[in-house]
Amino acid sequence: MTPTDTTFVTELAERRLREGASERDIELVQAQLGRYPRGMVAVGARCVCGNPLAVVTRPLLPGGIPFPTTCYLTGPEVVKAVSHVEANGEMPQYTDLVEHDADVHAAYERAHELYLAFRHAIAERLGDDESHIEGISAGGMPVRVKCLHALVAQSLVMGPGVNPIGDRVLERVRDEFDPAVCRCALRAGEDGSDADAAGSKDRKDVD
Ligand SMILES: [Zn+2]
Repeated sequence: MTPTDTTFVTELAERRLREGASERDIELVQAQLGRYPRGMVAVGARCVCGNPLAVVTRPLLPGGIPFPTTCYLTGPEVVKAVSHVEANGEMPQYTDLVEHDADVHAAYERAHELYLAFRHAIAERLGDDESHIEGISAGGMPVRVKCLHALVAQSLVMGPGVNPIGDRVLERVRDEFDPAVCRCALRAGEDGSDADAAGSKDRKDVD
């Protein structure tokens, strides 16, 4: 990891923490996951409609539970698209890439380092203890491919060029999910409670 990399993730973490998560964001994620998103401190990536696609979760959940999966995929459409790839038995070919393509291998190791540095910046800011999850990132990094959802979440939160496998999976599912195309079933304002102005506008603009 270069000094530029460190600056990039530290600034990204600070920016996301500064924005934080609104009550509305938390409500939307709760509806997406079907449970309260414990430890959610920010939205890491949004659909063009504004709905969260991935959230940033603090390293230590309330109650003192260590949580390594800092970038967590929540958008039902992207979760489903990525599940299709896993169910289709395509994991081995991604593992193969990491093992046998030197460029992908190096990029994957860097993605792991970036993940840890991003979490470390959040831990420092929030005063969270990372000792139980030291060196542990997500998705099988840095040498295996175990969960495509975690890798795609990193790609969405940190942008293209960070996680080589997450980027490839996003490309692979483009017909089913594209962060630039809203296919949200649950639109902002349609979760039953308060259909606000932004939600109504979204409904007119899409479909
Ligand atoms: Zn959307």
